[in-house]
Amino acid sequence: MSAQHEARTATAHHVVILGAGYAGMSAAIQLAARVRRHEDVQVTLVNAQERFAERLRLHMTGTGQRLSELSIPELLEGTGVRFVRGWVTAVDAAAKTVRMDDRHTLRYDTLVYGLGSVADTESVPGAAEYAHTFDSVHDAEVLAARLARLAGGTVMVAGSGLTGIETAAEIAERYPESHVVLLGRQEPGVTMNPKARGYLHAALDRLGVTVRSGVEVAEVLPDAVKLTGGERVDADVVVWTGGTRISPLAAAAGLTVDERGRIVTDTALRSVSHPEVYAVGDAAAIRQGYGLMHGTCQGGMPTGVHAAVSIARTLKGKQPKAFRFGYYHAPVSLGRDDAVVQFTHPDNSPRRICLTGRRAAWYKETVTASPWPTYGRMKKMPASGVFWPRGGRFTRIGEAR
Ligand SMILES: Cc1cc2nc3c(=O)[nH]c(=O)nc-3n(C[C@H](O)[C@H](O)[C@H](O)COP(=O)(O)OP(=O)(O)OC[C@H]3O[C@@H](n4cnc5c(N)ncnc54)[C@H](O)[C@@H]3O)c2cc1C
Repeated sequence: MSAQHEARTATAHHVVILGAGYAGMSAAIQLAARVRRHEDVQVTLVNAQERFAERLRLHMTGTGQRLSELSIPELLEGTGVRFVRGWVTAVDAAAKTVRMDDRHTLRYDTLVYGLGSVADTESVPGAAEYAHTFDSVHDAEVLAARLARLAGGTVMVAGSGLTGIETAAEIAERYPESHVVLLGRQEPGVTMNPKARGYLHAALDRLGVTVRSGVEVAEVLPDAVKLTGGERVDADVVVWTGGTRISPLAAAAGLTVDERGRIVTDTALRSVSHPEVYAVGDAAAIRQGYGLMHGTCQGGMPTGVHAAVSIARTLKGKQPKAFRFGYYHAPVSLGRDDAVVQFTHPDNSPRRICLTGRRAAWYKETVTASPWPTYGRMKKMPASGVFWPRGGRFTRIGEAR
């Protein structure tokens, strides 16, 4: 390193982005493109793996389907972003440092926290020990290996939200000799309109998935689950899709978090307790006029872009703008050739219009495949990443429906 470069690094404004998921990648690429000509700004992206984990496709990995290897360092080539591979073990919000598992520390002036979420296996005894999750590509591959050895038997998907539905359908399609049970508190597709919900149930029925709703798992055992009320349901494999939890790092750092451990943000996505920290994606508790956003890729990518735009504005001495986002769809795959897409109002309530069948499967695949090319476009044209539905009157605080 030249003396000149060292001096520049010492005086530079360091932006450290934690997590290269859908939100963190959006923040890194967008910010790099906006500060390209500012030699006094250094952007560092930290992630556990070099491979981009396409979480939207982990139920495919979990059923033994091979996905493209998407390399984060390759995507970052030419952007000026420094990539650090490693596991973050602590954030010291007072000292403005991040501790890595190899014990080295990274100093920051501005932090973007995008460490995502993992399956909530802590709230039910036995889930962490005996249930499979989609927390990482590795976890999905462990499930795939288990299913490949199964040859029949019962696979229980515990959690009847959209991830649980996609998982149950995918497993039933790939392993028709297995009996798949989708079990949860809510009826699958409860947030959809009657037509979409009816289609969903018919598809699950066609795939041979047994649906049990209105039940709650009290304990996961090595070969069964126990429901509240005491009933035991045998299962050779349990996949846990019953809600998510957030890494305890943010709370341990003293950042203000909500009851689920998400960083509470102001309207510009800055931590309310530490404004030099931006929170994005699943790890952020972001309030809109309709309530708190829930973790999705469709909302996560805009949060990353908005944080980057805000940081770039702040570096120029401007004020960041308020973040606004409205939902527009809930696409759900039902195996590889079928899907249902519920179009939504900005507050995520269902519209009358939905897509089903092959057209819906094509739509879902197009949406799922879109983040990586979007990052590629943003490298050259950052403005191409700033288009998302702002939600109109639904997202104006005080004007929610
Ligand atoms: C099977 C499945 C299907 C889904 N389908 C959909 C869908 O169709 N549509 C939709 O909108 N959403 C879907 N979701 C939800 C969506 O994947 C998440 O909302 C989204 O990934 C959140 O993005 P994020 O950037 O906040 O976090 P993530 O994408 O989870 O990224 C977080 C990153 O941080 C890294 N990381 C975490 N902790 C550390 C640490 N301590 N040190 C270093 N690195 C760390 C992780 O390895 C990861 O790369 C699905 C989720 C699953 C599991």
